[in-house]
Amino acid sequence: MKAVAVFPGSQQVKIIEQDVPRLTQPDQVALRLLDVGICGTDKEICSFEYGTPPSGDDHLVIGHESLAEIVQVGSAVERFEVGDLVVPSVRRPCPHPGCLACRSGHQDYCYTGEFTERGIKEAHGYMAEYVVDHERYMNVVPPDLRGIAVLAEPLTIAEKALEQIFWMMQNRPPWLDPQTPSHERGRGLSALVLGIGPVGLLGAMTLATAGFTTYVYSRELPPSPRIDLVNAIGATYVSSQTATFPDLAAQIGNIDLVYEAVGRSHFALQALRVLGTNGIFVLTGVPVLQDFVQSDPAHLMRTMVLKNQMLLGTVNAGPEAFAAALRDLAAFRRRWPAVVRTLIAGRYPPEQAPALILGRPAGIKSVITFDAPVAGQSSGPR
Ligand SMILES: [Zn+2]
Ligand SMILES: [Zn+2]
Repeated sequence: MKAVAVFPGSQQVKIIEQDVPRLTQPDQVALRLLDVGICGTDKEICSFEYGTPPSGDDHLVIGHESLAEIVQVGSAVERFEVGDLVVPSVRRPCPHPGCLACRSGHQDYCYTGEFTERGIKEAHGYMAEYVVDHERYMNVVPPDLRGIAVLAEPLTIAEKALEQIFWMMQNRPPWLDPQTPSHERGRGLSALVLGIGPVGLLGAMTLATAGFTTYVYSRELPPSPRIDLVNAIGATYVSSQTATFPDLAAQIGNIDLVYEAVGRSHFALQALRVLGTNGIFVLTGVPVLQDFVQSDPAHLMRTMVLKNQMLLGTVNAGPEAFAAALRDLAAFRRRWPAVVRTLIAGRYPPEQAPALILGRPAGIKSVITFDAPVAGQSSGPR
């Protein structure tokens, strides 16, 4: 079978032939991959800036944003049967008995850092025709989400952040009554999304769905399909080429939430300066470590204290966030059917993966498909 792998030693990204994996434990499922999304993390791995092969291997099979069909179940599998659709989570627990996070199934909060991540860190990923995995890491996908469920994994970034934001808001009166329905939890509050890539756009859709008055700020100027998307979901786009952060703060008023999805430290620090009273600042982007900036920490510290601000870093994600992502994908499709049809820019065969990963991203999300399209059928979004 085919897989897409990166070889850090020889600095190559290529298609490899492998044996089809077999079940070796009763709690395992065999997956036939349908769709695998490409993202910035894959680009970093294929540029040899990030990612580690499993110990003893010279290569890493990439791919962590996936949708698969179960084709075989082990004798102890309880929740799934052949034919079910699933989105696997990415991170696997560390081996330490004392890691409270991993031992309770919350490896996204692992204390030791010795977790593995499929397709990223010391474990092969999902950009392969078949994969074997354990039942407990599978998230069930309703069949009618077949066309868009590959977006669930990148959407978990926003969902996990929102889960924590609402928990904090409910504990900071007078913001939020715990009985508030989920689509009204952001009502009366403003959210500023930094960045217009897939993470930023999915974040903006999530925040708008939760009722926030949502703004998206990035360098891009119109015309742009991404800016059209921001407008189509009822959010407001502002370009950093036409407005500064203080201009933006004057336009928005109190900025209750900043959702950072760029991974540039100077941009994030400028935004932190305009965070409002009782504001929460969520960091999701991972900057390169040489990204030095001059700063004024005393000013930032003073403002954060006097305005009760909170700074939150978050890495995806646990089962609750996957369930929320699948619920929200269905909600997005009900609310903005035309927008949702544009989220997947195209589906491509695995042979095109290296060029797509290393090239300039076209559209919002490019997807590698292992599910050969029927002759005459469009390779676009389904
Ligand atoms: Zn990703
Ligand atoms: Zn751990």
